[in-house]
Amino acid sequence: MTATKPHLDILLCAPRGFCAGVVRAIDAVERALAIYGPPVYVRHEIVHNRYVVESLKRKGAIFVDDLSEIPATTAPVIFSAHGVAKSVLEEAARRALFTIDATCPLVTKVHREAEIHYKRGRVVILIGHSGHPEVIGTMGQLPQGAILLVESMADIERLDAPDPDNLAYVTQTTLSVDDAADMVAALKQRFPKIAGPHREDICYATTNRQEAVKRVARDVDALIVVGSPNSSNSQRLREVAERSGCKTARLIPHVRDIDWDEFANVRRLAITAGASAPEILVDEIIQAFARRRDISVETISTADESVFFPLPRALRDEAAA
Ligand code: SF4
Repeated sequence: MTATKPHLDILLCAPRGFCAGVVRAIDAVERALAIYGPPVYVRHEIVHNRYVVESLKRKGAIFVDDLSEIPATTAPVIFSAHGVAKSVLEEAARRALFTIDATCPLVTKVHREAEIHYKRGRVVILIGHSGHPEVIGTMGQLPQGAILLVESMADIERLDAPDPDNLAYVTQTTLSVDDAADMVAALKQRFPKIAGPHREDICYATTNRQEAVKRVARDVDALIVVGSPNSSNSQRLREVAERSGCKTARLIPHVRDIDWDEFANVRRLAITAGASAPEILVDEIIQAFARRRDISVETISTADESVFFPLPRALRDEAAA
């Protein structure tokens, strides 16, 4: 006689997973491999996901942390979705490397905003996380000292702005929407004349995924964010779930990382995925639950996404030719 499996309601957040910037970056590497053949060099993880990086490695992509690791070559060198400092572009030009820039257009938008503020004589305050590749790339758009990084309310309180009437702010694209709103409000209170972006810098994908998590967080016993620990937007999704009332919110890179004991008494489970996590990782987790539990799956959708970014120009021109 087979034992009856206990029931589990799964609420699947939508939108979840890949955003338009990640799709474009991965497509860029795959298209470059198809056009030019391996190897294709990629500076930094093209997106923050181990599964994606490993599968591109198997196809012939070589990931490097620094351009100095790349020998003299005519092979393409691709810059990741997070963007790069101007010094990296200059170094690549000096070495006459054939570069393809897969920086997400929504990150490029922040770079251009920072440049415009600088040209207007403003000191730029960047709200972001120190050490994240996107923050390094954004700070590297301007000369050293032209951008001041703030990570917390405490940073804003102790900020020593050289000319308080001539400031602007930009933000990392993958912040917590609520945290960023609080920090922007604090900046405006301290520096009433501070200039800001015309449209939010936090991207549509970050905003939509956080909204979907907020919708379900209180209605479930636990929530899984499928994503890598170094993925900023995935980390924020876990935090948003906790702050919205979910007692157990876990970031799970892969089905093998699940602590099954932790989910033994869960009756309602929500699942989402960071913008760099492929859907196959979500499917594998649902299948693993289905082997242990009698599951029903309901999709909870809070927004429709139809954003699409064309491939970097170098690849579009080559494909057209
Ligand atoms: S998370 Fe947002 S900014 Fe980052 S790649 Fe995706 S769309 Fe672009």
